[in-house]
Amino acid sequence: MNETDTDSDTAAEPRDFIRERVRSDLADGTTKSVVTRFPPEPNGYLHIGHAKSICLNFGVATEFNGACNLRFDDTNPAKEEQEFIDAIEEDVRWLGFKWTGAPRHASDYFDTLYEWAVHLIENGKAYVDDLNAEEIREYRGTLTEPGRESPFRSRSVAENMDLFTRMKAGEFADGAKVLRARIDMASGNINMRDPVIYRIVHKSHPRTGDAWCIYPTYDFAHGQSDAIEGVTHSVCTLEFEDHRPLYDWLIENLPVPARPRQYEFARLNMTYTVLSKRRLTQLVQDKHVSGWDDPRMPTISGLRRRGIPAFAIRDFVSRLGVTKSESTVEPALLDHCVREHLNKVAERRMAVLRPLKVVIENYPEGGSESLDAVNNPEDAAAGSRRVTFSREIYIEQDDFMEDAPKKFFRLAPGREVRLRWAYFITCTDVIKDDAGNVVELRCTYDPATKGGDAPDGRKVKGTLHWVSAVDAVDAEVRLYDHLFTDPAPGRQEDFISTLNPQSLEVLTGCKLEPSLADFSPGQAMQFERLGYFAKDPDSSASAPVFNRTMTLRDTWAKIQSKT
Ligand code: ATP
Ligand code: MG
Repeated sequence: MNETDTDSDTAAEPRDFIRERVRSDLADGTTKSVVTRFPPEPNGYLHIGHAKSICLNFGVATEFNGACNLRFDDTNPAKEEQEFIDAIEEDVRWLGFKWTGAPRHASDYFDTLYEWAVHLIENGKAYVDDLNAEEIREYRGTLTEPGRESPFRSRSVAENMDLFTRMKAGEFADGAKVLRARIDMASGNINMRDPVIYRIVHKSHPRTGDAWCIYPTYDFAHGQSDAIEGVTHSVCTLEFEDHRPLYDWLIENLPVPARPRQYEFARLNMTYTVLSKRRLTQLVQDKHVSGWDDPRMPTISGLRRRGIPAFAIRDFVSRLGVTKSESTVEPALLDHCVREHLNKVAERRMAVLRPLKVVIENYPEGGSESLDAVNNPEDAAAGSRRVTFSREIYIEQDDFMEDAPKKFFRLAPGREVRLRWAYFITCTDVIKDDAGNVVELRCTYDPATKGGDAPDGRKVKGTLHWVSAVDAVDAEVRLYDHLFTDPAPGRQEDFISTLNPQSLEVLTGCKLEPSLADFSPGQAMQFERLGYFAKDPDSSASAPVFNRTMTLRDTWAKIQSKT
């Protein structure tokens, strides 16, 4: 098996190059007990890409009886907020994972990290540089040209110690000085050309308040935090592959208590989706969406609000496998996982999104009855419920056609159809408004067809869903489409111009079976013939709101069966 082999089998034991590594490290004693971590920066909400990292890190820990820490990489006080910390914890929990012990924070280690910076200075391996950010960039060189040494590179240990202490004491302005590791300005790897390890930021930190005005960079904090926590396998995405020599250099040059190793895998990319936090933040801040949990967002909270179950996200991630080659996945695969799961667990209900009134002329005026309706044909244990049938009902506007072609198997003048769980009806008359729009149908029903079968054996081609007018509940229903029209919206800076103006359609006056009013958000259901839906938290007792999670048609299954 080579490193990039995947196993798309969702069955019990996932196999990939990371898990193979862990297995062999445990087998030869390199690792006593596996420790992983999920290290989000709390500067945004988690998205479907993070779910891949979460499933991998927590999954490995569970499968090999190890531990997985949740560690907030909170080294940049300028962008980080408590709201994000809370949302991240909620999302990880909702995905079905439990971190070991309390959540950790890179900021828990600020004292130790400072001591280790001092350790580097004392050993001549770090220096205070007065070059500004732009000069540092200029001196760094390029992929083809070596860097140049800063004029401050040869400061004495004593001078560096003095300046670093004064940086910490708040004597200098933001950007006036930085601490850099002294490695190799001629290195072929730009990350090794004296990387910045501490910068001055006069800003209150959500956890450490005003205790610090110098903060470690990601590169300096990350591996050292791993070592402090005894992380054995530090898994990150491929763009950090070039940082690994620095990760290792720091571990080797510091008095760290453990020896973590970094492994990189390919990040998740998805068509019609942006997954960069910078871009997602822009969508939220500029109000192109209603918030981080807008059901069109690829965030975990958006997917949850849309009605996508955690199980389907885990299933999706496990089908992708873990590899070292970049690829872009179609949202249709996630949709497929959602449908496959919801088909098994979602109860069926009837709802009419664009109602057309039907009066059943031979049904007793003011009469009604209650009929038995199966909750889930895929799950006998889900039982059945009663639905009201009455003289006035609603059907879907597009289930009727006045001049219907032969192949139209739904309702048309003179044609007979089955009403789900109820009777056969025949359309006898069409009522229109002054503008010529169909506003009501007159029908007759056949009492002998109760339950949906004719005793004389006659067949109908169509079965329609419907809702009784006597007890229907009015609702708002929100339909969603891709947020972007461009399959690769992230490739251009002006990705906003590719927003899909039709990504949200709001329907009001939809008619629901009354039991739907009692569903809670997070409880998936199928509206018969229409798709899977979930109640939105915007609902009030008198005005329920539903989100369409997705339609019933599975385009992914179709793609697969063709190949
Ligand atoms: P940015 O969008 O600014 O690059 P980020 O998504 O890397 O930020 P972090 O909070 O640093 O944000 O990510 C936490 C962890 O999730 C990291 O280990 C990162 O490698 C992983 N991760 C982030 N995006 C993806 C993705 N698309 N696929 C897989 N893992 C991801
Ligand atoms: Mg990151």
